[in-house]
Amino acid sequence: MSWERLGLPRSRLNKLQVVLTFDDGFRNNAEVVAPILRRHRIPAVFFVCSRHAEPGRYLWFSYLRALEKWFKGAGFQFRGRYFDMGASKRQSSVAELWSLLLDLRPHPGAMYRAIEEECPRLQDFAPESDLADCFAGMSAEQVEELSRDPLFTIGIHTVDHPYLTKCDADEAGRQMEDNKLWIERLTQKKCDLIAYPLGDYSADVLRHCERLNLRWGFSVENSIEGDPRLQLLRVGIYHPSLDELGFKVRWGRMLMHAHRYGYLVNH
Ligand SMILES: [Zn+2]
Repeated sequence: MSWERLGLPRSRLNKLQVVLTFDDGFRNNAEVVAPILRRHRIPAVFFVCSRHAEPGRYLWFSYLRALEKWFKGAGFQFRGRYFDMGASKRQSSVAELWSLLLDLRPHPGAMYRAIEEECPRLQDFAPESDLADCFAGMSAEQVEELSRDPLFTIGIHTVDHPYLTKCDADEAGRQMEDNKLWIERLTQKKCDLIAYPLGDYSADVLRHCERLNLRWGFSVENSIEGDPRLQLLRVGIYHPSLDELGFKVRWGRMLMHAHRYGYLVNH
């Protein structure tokens, strides 16, 4: 990414302290977040998965969150096991399904097939308007429209949001390349930055970045041998708390160093 694309004059770029990035490409980013950023002239990068741009398709963790939130009924069968969805068991049942699905190979194809063919169907239990508000992805038109605003940059977040290190080598490359081509087709601009889904990457993933001429890679923690520009650390903001946001903006640099040197285990 050239920072000039963030739409700020060069004199102000030197003073740029914080860059906001938004992962996954949920529709609410285009419909709720972007208008607020525009109003305050705040530049941002949106890392967008292509899978959920199609109506009725969702990312795997969206499916699991929706299942936990809205599933009606006592439970369901999956591969010979019963998942108890009673109030006291619901969370642990979904956690169990979560790890079972992530163990399926090849990743992530087998997981998505299992969700589509063997798990309870979202449309049978999830309210359509809530699904649209919480879990739908940006449409292709919305990605295109955001990219036309000089405040915003669109980055790679893969097609299906897999753990890249769980994919076989070809699949990891395909996940990155297909998403990049989709973004470039929509935006008519070169896309050379990626946020690794779930912050998961490896030396093989960095090699794919080099093959695809990516210049900037974003994670939340961890770093390995290799190009530091492909391993830029971010401070994660996961809760709608202004106090937490203020603290992290003020102390983010220190938190990232603490992470890097292993002083913090959790955040
Ligand atoms: Zn993500």
